[in-house]
Amino acid sequence: MSVANEAADPGKGKTKMDEGRVAKGVKPVAKTNSMYEQYQKIYPRSVSGLFRNIKWWVMGLLLTVFWVGPWIRWERAGAAPDQAIFIDLPGRKAYFFFIEIWPQEVYYLTGLLIIAAIALFYATALAGRVWCGFACFQTVFTDLFVWVERKIEGERNSRITLDQGKVNANKLGKKILKNGVWLAISLAVGIGFSLYFQPVPWEALAEIFTLKASAATYGAIAVVGGGCYVMAGFAREQVCIYMCPYARFQSAMMDEHSLIVTYEQWRGEPRGKYSKDADFSQRGHCVDCGLCVQVCPTGVDIREGTQIGCIGCGLCVDACATVMKRFNLPTDLITYDSVANQNARAEKKPEPTKLIRPRTILYTVVLVLVCGLMATSLLTRSRLEVNVLHERSPLFVPMSDGSIRNGYTFKILNMERTNNAFVLTTRGVEGATMEVLGVTERPVKEVLLPVEGDRVGSFRIYVSVPRASLHGPTSDLEFVLINKGTGESVDYDTLFAGPH
Ligand code: SF4
Ligand code: SF4
Repeated sequence: MSVANEAADPGKGKTKMDEGRVAKGVKPVAKTNSMYEQYQKIYPRSVSGLFRNIKWWVMGLLLTVFWVGPWIRWERAGAAPDQAIFIDLPGRKAYFFFIEIWPQEVYYLTGLLIIAAIALFYATALAGRVWCGFACFQTVFTDLFVWVERKIEGERNSRITLDQGKVNANKLGKKILKNGVWLAISLAVGIGFSLYFQPVPWEALAEIFTLKASAATYGAIAVVGGGCYVMAGFAREQVCIYMCPYARFQSAMMDEHSLIVTYEQWRGEPRGKYSKDADFSQRGHCVDCGLCVQVCPTGVDIREGTQIGCIGCGLCVDACATVMKRFNLPTDLITYDSVANQNARAEKKPEPTKLIRPRTILYTVVLVLVCGLMATSLLTRSRLEVNVLHERSPLFVPMSDGSIRNGYTFKILNMERTNNAFVLTTRGVEGATMEVLGVTERPVKEVLLPVEGDRVGSFRIYVSVPRASLHGPTSDLEFVLINKGTGESVDYDTLFAGPH
């Protein structure tokens, strides 16, 4: 039965569960002495319309990006991986097209998370829970799993009947098939995720299927795939209602001009069942068909007002629009609109949606600033860095010629693809000389240190200083490193220890 036909004859084809919901518009409360309401499984009904189409498109786009991502190649010079998006855990690096992040640059990741958070707040201020309703992975995979369920077990009423019926071959077969397809999707999700951590996806796939991959890879597939199976197959709306923290504080980002899904109470009430002689000029437009509740993936009755369970997916807007068209009534009884617009329409003074307001201006400024800072920092960042570790035991060694010697572990991060030679000198302590294990044979004031491209060069350096140059237990010592080819230089301040 179509949505519109069911609206015209709402009692037809209803299950007991529907009766409870449709008659009162609320979930039936189980007769129990328990303090807690019994969990009611949600059986979302299919619907077509603008928001449903947008959800299909967004789902298709996001799943394509997720599964295709690891296969995109990006030529990089030298021995660097050619995978456009790659997280190299053993090498402790991350690659994203032309951007390469070393462990020392993890603050870029923080910057990225800040940008994502501001963008999310911005989207919420403009269009409410648009992320939750359309792009959140929980929504996307739940949608996909419900689609599979519908294809195998049938429309909402068939699924309810199947679940309430006795176990027989038909029920068992459908449940096994459905769970098999869910598991296959979950496996594909787990494998797709693991490919982002491996440099050559086709080799990684071959290893996975011939059981030659590492235990960590199988562990990641099990955790991510298992999570997908449980969250999208069983937990579903409970993740949004009970587990997701974002739902709790997103209202702080909204105001009366943010677009949200609402029911036009002033137009819909008093609601009543449809009858052939219904005069809609004398009653509310809601025919109490319950379709808005039946299509809702979280089981919300939006006619009761804005609720935390509403993820803003707009499916009830589609459902109600179909019903309204059937009765030649204006659509938008349930609408994706701002509260301010709704109030204006109730007073017959509709206004255009106000997109530019202090809150959105603030988010725009902050977003542009943070993006600008990140871009400038990425484009101008140095590709040379040093780390110096002063030897602690012993702090210093008095030498037979009267000088004092300190040891350092000196690391040069050559973040360029080419092999480079670096000139190292010291500043700050008069008469300091250096010996580098495996590089110099006698104390020198200046030493040339070679480091391969895209590698960390580690050197053991002994600095000796005449005792007369020291005027206390510690002196400031500065290492100066210059890339011989490019002239790029970096200084590192440390201490030179001596006797009291
Ligand atoms: S709001 Fe629309 S879909 Fe929901 S019960 Fe009323 S008429 Fe039906
Ligand atoms: S009430 Fe409407 S917009 Fe909200 S979650 Fe349910 S179907 Fe989606």
